[in-house]
Amino acid sequence: MRFALIMTRQNISLLGSTGSIGCSTLDVISHSDGAMHLCALAGHSNIKLLIEQTQQFKPKYVAVTNPQTASEVDKSLFPDGTILLKGPESLIQLAQLPEAQTVVCAVVGRAGLESTMAALQASKRVALANKESLVIGGELVIEASKKYNAPLLPIDSEHGAVFQSLRAGNHSEIKRVVLTASGGPFREYSEQQLQSVTLEQALAHPTWKMGKKITIDSATLMNKALEIVEARWLFNLTAEQIAVVIHPQSYVHSMVEFVDGSVIAQISPPDMRLPIQYALTCPERTPGPASQMDWSVCHKLDFFPPDMTQKRFKGLSLALKVVKYGGSSACVMNAANEVAVQYFIEGKIPFLEIVSTCCKAVDAHLQSGFIPHPTLDELIQIDNQTRQWTQRELDALANA
Ligand code: NAD
Ligand code: MG
Repeated sequence: MRFALIMTRQNISLLGSTGSIGCSTLDVISHSDGAMHLCALAGHSNIKLLIEQTQQFKPKYVAVTNPQTASEVDKSLFPDGTILLKGPESLIQLAQLPEAQTVVCAVVGRAGLESTMAALQASKRVALANKESLVIGGELVIEASKKYNAPLLPIDSEHGAVFQSLRAGNHSEIKRVVLTASGGPFREYSEQQLQSVTLEQALAHPTWKMGKKITIDSATLMNKALEIVEARWLFNLTAEQIAVVIHPQSYVHSMVEFVDGSVIAQISPPDMRLPIQYALTCPERTPGPASQMDWSVCHKLDFFPPDMTQKRFKGLSLALKVVKYGGSSACVMNAANEVAVQYFIEGKIPFLEIVSTCCKAVDAHLQSGFIPHPTLDELIQIDNQTRQWTQRELDALANA
């Protein structure tokens, strides 16, 4: 038994360990009875937490990716023998570590793209939380997963649910994938109320505790927009095969409807430790720390169709349009969103301006600069150009 455990121990490199997904991943690892071993950690700027994590898990490697923080870090604060890496390039190094079989990509935003690609190119098993990688470079990410025989397992709860539900049928039998959305904190707000939403209100998500950026994305529904594109690539779907339904309780994480009318769903309390664990153990299942259903109480599950004519759902229509166009359009949607979210966090633009900016950026790009099959370098260039374009637009708006 002991021998079997050692033989099957999974060595994990965790990129973005200090974030919400990073911390939940560590909890899953610590409940794995030694079946999972952490060999590397990367964090950006929360040194205090990174040191605590290193002391608890004793990985061989630790990386500090923010150059400013890295230049100030004191190596003696880490346990003896830890190999300390510094700067953004260290993410690539940890994504390709020979001793890691699995890489958990839990960095937020566009900063995760190159390390996701690097892990796939090194034929790692990639547990992907960083949905932005797939949104920006979906075609290249999927190609790399196939070419390098690197399994790509979704951590996002909706995609984890679809991934599990798909085990009930073949790809040719899919009628559509139904992504659930909690609807965020403003599900019942009027358009007028949405205009004066504050940062504090936008950060109070009703069902999930997450990092700041994805919490704002959930409030604008841009998170669901990103997830539509993520589903398109992960499951090779057309825009017509992707539907979204508002499900405020966040218990049904998503569903697959098959051609015969059967709908297979995955249900569990909202707790990211379950999809993280499944991405690390599948096709097997093991007991773990995630909260379990309590069947001794009454549960009510509501589903509402989003009214796509309303302004609040504009992000969903944008994502479906981006799926239809493909190419570089989703990269633009993502870059504009990242910049606009930052402007909203800094109090420079109103809430509704986030999605409007994404729509304008995509429209401008489709008129000029669109590339049907961009390379990674082209995507990086388009991402940079879109960030500059969005900053100019939003600065003009803020100063008007
Ligand atoms: P977070 O903000 O809590 O954590 C982000 C992590 O990325 C931190 O460890 C931070 O140090 C690191 N990071 C930030 N900027 C970086 C940079 N420039 N270079 C390298 N590292 C950097 O975010 P989160 O909520 O854990 O989300 C992480 C990813 O997982 C996102 O892509 C998000 O969309 C996705 N996701 C999160 C949840 C959730 O419940 N939190 C659910 C599904 C998907
Ligand atoms: Mg999700």
